Amino acid sequence: MHNSPKPSIAPRLEKEARREKMALPPQPLLERPPEVRLNDFEEIIVPFSAEQAIAEASRCLFCPGASCANACLLGNDIPGAMWLISQGDFFGRRPAVPGNERYAGDLRAGVSSRAIV
Ligand code: SF4
Repeated sequence: MHNSPKPSIAPRLEKEARREKMALPPQPLLERPPEVRLNDFEEIIVPFSAEQAIAEASRCLFCPGASCANACLLGNDIPGAMWLISQGDFFGRRPAVPGNERYAGDLRAGVSSRAIV
C-alpha cells in the first residue's frame, strides 16, 4: 500500500537559499575498524553525533514535490523530518498543521539513540 504524501511541514526555500544549502559539505561516514567489528554485531557505520545529524539534515533542500516523500511507501514527510532535525528536534514535536496527521519524527533520520544524549 502506498500512502500519498501530504503537504510538508518543512518551509519553502527560495532558489538562493537552496543554492546556499547545496554548498554545504556532506558529513563523513566513518566505518568501525574490521578487527573491532569482528567481535560484535554493532553497525559498521559509526552513528552520527547529534551535531552531525543536524548538519546533515541542514543540507536538505526541502524540494517542492520531494521525490523522497513521493517514494516513501508510508507517506512520511521526509523533508519535514529533515527540517525538525535541522532544528535539533529529533523526536518530531511538529507544529500543528491542519490536515497533516503524520508524525514527521517517525524517521528520526537514522540517528542512533546513542547520539541523542
Ligand atoms: S531529502 Fe528529499 S527534500 Fe531533502 S533534498 Fe533530498 S529529495 Fe529533496
